[in-house]
Amino acid sequence: MRSPFWRDEVATGAVLVASYLGGLAGYLGGLPMLVVGSAVLFAVALLSVVRMLDRVRVQARTVEDQSQRLDEAVDVVRLLENELRHQGLHDRLTGLPNRGLLDDRVEHALRGSARSSGAVAVLFCDLDGFKTVNDSLGPRIGDKLLAVVGKRICSVVRTEDTVARLGGDEFAIVMSDVHDPQVAHNVAERVVSAVRRPIDISDHPIAVSISVGLAFGDVGKSAEVLLSEADAAMYAAKTGGKDRAVAFAEPMRTAIVRRMALRNSFAESLHGGEFYLQYQPHMSLRDSRLEGFEALVRWRHPEHGEIEPGEFIPLAEETGFIIPLGRWILETACLAGASWQQDAPGSPTLSVNVSARQLQNSHFVDDLKAALSYSGLAPSQLILEATESMLMVDPDDTAKVLHRAKDLGVRIAIDDFGTGYSSLGYLRQFPVDAIKIDKSFIEPLADPVNGEDALVSAILLLAQQLHLSTIAEGIETETQLRSLIRIGYTSGQGDLLSRPLDRDAAADLVRARSAGGHRRADAH
Ligand code: C2E
Ligand code: MG
Ligand code: MG
Repeated sequence: MRSPFWRDEVATGAVLVASYLGGLAGYLGGLPMLVVGSAVLFAVALLSVVRMLDRVRVQARTVEDQSQRLDEAVDVVRLLENELRHQGLHDRLTGLPNRGLLDDRVEHALRGSARSSGAVAVLFCDLDGFKTVNDSLGPRIGDKLLAVVGKRICSVVRTEDTVARLGGDEFAIVMSDVHDPQVAHNVAERVVSAVRRPIDISDHPIAVSISVGLAFGDVGKSAEVLLSEADAAMYAAKTGGKDRAVAFAEPMRTAIVRRMALRNSFAESLHGGEFYLQYQPHMSLRDSRLEGFEALVRWRHPEHGEIEPGEFIPLAEETGFIIPLGRWILETACLAGASWQQDAPGSPTLSVNVSARQLQNSHFVDDLKAALSYSGLAPSQLILEATESMLMVDPDDTAKVLHRAKDLGVRIAIDDFGTGYSSLGYLRQFPVDAIKIDKSFIEPLADPVNGEDALVSAILLLAQQLHLSTIAEGIETETQLRSLIRIGYTSGQGDLLSRPLDRDAAADLVRARSAGGHRRADAH
């Protein structure tokens, strides 16, 4: 053990006094000298003790300070721990519980349902089209939007319910002790209505909607199963048209498994040669003259067989797989188009569908140039088809991309016209050449008595005023064809005229038509 510091102090003082006294004794000699010496020795010792006490006091104060600082540090650590625990269980953007905490709450609520007669309801909520808002307006606006959506959801639930953000544009609500399922249905409907109101972000009104899936459970069900059922119901709400709430039903379970399987097999599928294109002709309605082909992608999955584009294109958009897939479609279609050009100069046009994510990809115009130069297809033969809703995701940037495509000599068509914004005035900002009228407008024309053609007539009139050419889609019957001709439509596409053809059959048709035949293609 170390000796206390004051012992050194006293020893030094004593040595000094002893040497001083030794000198003094020699000078004075005898008793008086001893008295003086003792007094001096006492004074020095006293001084040392006083200094020592001073130091002890200072040290004690330091120790006190240090222990106070230590207490403060402990408090800070505790706060930090709480904060970290909170952060670990909450979402930073919205402050709402996160996935981990939600899982806990669901489990807790399910266990608790053993004691009460009420069920647990989980509502899975996913914003519609958020990815495109985020991609086009930027993540800062996207974050603000999510924060507002979180608040709106919280404002319509019961105080005892938990609202969580699962990440991205997904939210969930847990309701325990639900005695009447209608109560949960009502909350789901209120969430849908609350999000439907436009959201003002930096003076920009952003219109979004939300799809909600609802599932119920009790102590006999695991949290994992309950959450996956709510997720499956949410997906059903999406495929059912979005902006709605749907409750879980048993057949939805297989749909979720299939979707996962399809997503997981994208990576292999393109290299594995599982995709192929078909080409559906569009023709002059009066004389069946071949005008062009629309390339339509198909997926022949090794396990699931033929899969419709209506099923896998939305998944490809969600996952971003549409970018490499779209590039492959463009190249493959352009090669086919170029080969028909060689077969029959002055030949049919080639239409290729593009999705919103492709149009927002900065490499799109480069991909387009590359496909044209690699295939040798004349740009004037190529038509890009985009739907109205795709253009409206980010109108300014999309207009720029389309203008650059147009500068290359490529034409632009609005697909499924009438199902999106239907504002021809708005469409002026895009360099559009043609509109394809959606088959939902053509369908009623099949009824010879009540066939609704006022809308179809009005669309033609508007298109003519804007100098846009028109193609009527989905013509299936002779009655529809006759109505369209009577109204004044000149071009059309549909199974009555020809179903989609594979590349060789399309090439045969091109050759046959260039040899002078104008009959309807028969691919049945
Ligand atoms: P779309 O571009 O409007 O394509 C026309 C759809 O109508 C095609 O469906 C076609 O087979 C179908 N159709 C043609 N005639 C008739 C008819 O008389 N009656 C009925 N009921 N349907 C008819 P498909 O091939 O299933 O494609 C569906 C949608 O998937 C397309 O609609 C398009 O939006 C998308 N799609 C297809 N191929 C591609 C592609 O290569 N890229 C992208 N991004 N989307 C694609
Ligand atoms: Mg199309
Ligand atoms: Mg269409």
